[in-house]
Amino acid sequence: MANGFFTDTTLCIGCKACEVACKQWNQLPADGYAMTGMSYDNTAALSATTWRHVAFIEVPKSKKRLPMATPAPPPAAVPSADGGNSEGLKILNINGEASLQVGFPDIGQWLMMSDVCKHCTNAGCLQACPTGAIIRNEFGAVYVQPDICNGCGYCVPSCPFGVVALQHDDGRAFKCTLCYDRQKDGLEPACAKACPTDSITFGNLDDLKMRARQRVAELHARGETSAYLYGVDEETEVGDLNAFFLLKAEPEAYGLPKAPRLPQDRVGRGYLAGFAAAAVLSVFSALVFKSKR
Ligand code: SF4
Ligand code: SF4
Ligand code: SF4
Repeated sequence: MANGFFTDTTLCIGCKACEVACKQWNQLPADGYAMTGMSYDNTAALSATTWRHVAFIEVPKSKKRLPMATPAPPPAAVPSADGGNSEGLKILNINGEASLQVGFPDIGQWLMMSDVCKHCTNAGCLQACPTGAIIRNEFGAVYVQPDICNGCGYCVPSCPFGVVALQHDDGRAFKCTLCYDRQKDGLEPACAKACPTDSITFGNLDDLKMRARQRVAELHARGETSAYLYGVDEETEVGDLNAFFLLKAEPEAYGLPKAPRLPQDRVGRGYLAGFAAAAVLSVFSALVFKSKR
């Protein structure tokens, strides 16, 4: 039995209840709100202590293209003469005349997405781990066993999504466990339980994929033709993702790679290039040696 997450980003309201529930259940510390003041996105990224991250992508109207990375800088609080909502919010006096006009920020589009470890079919982290600390558990999740991890860090660059990270104070690797302890007790993961809009749903992967395809068809029928599934039915090096997403913009806008690649799949080519370089060097050295004789 393989379980996973289907995250429908069109239903996300950015409440961050999933992040809080994850931290609370897994007893993860706060990250110091490093981003406060730069964006509504106050956690910035996944880390060893943030296993769910709700990305806020703020796309100003004046921007033609969606940003390639998150979080985007916030738009100006008050619009310029030609930017933002030209109407704004009018405050009327007792005679019904506009006495004050407050402009809306230049936000053309908000994209929100609760990111998490994808529990990949071909997991780069699992393949790279030399100690066997990373396993696929009985629920189909990619699980780091903290008592076996030696903190070598090989898994970190091997994840195409930048998910797994070393914890600074003890040096070991941590990431989402897909709430292994809750699943063992027949409970759904804390984030899915807390999500008030069902943007995050948890369950059997076959059921989730069927539901996700139906949701895409439903959105297309309503005219939302940009909706598509990320991490399902795609020919990529990582295979299907056990945590997959319904998106509306290009993957890069959400900080996801368009075609995730495993670094270790290029090791062979690296060796070949090394051998070729060594061969060229030895021929060159032989020629130099011969010319000096
Ligand atoms: S997303 Fe990264 S950390 Fe998660 S299973 Fe895939 S390779 Fe491993
Ligand atoms: S840091 Fe831990 S989990 Fe990552 S590769 Fe090394 S032993 Fe494996
Ligand atoms: S995924 Fe759900 S809980 Fe998380 S921010 Fe979105 S709506 Fe809130």
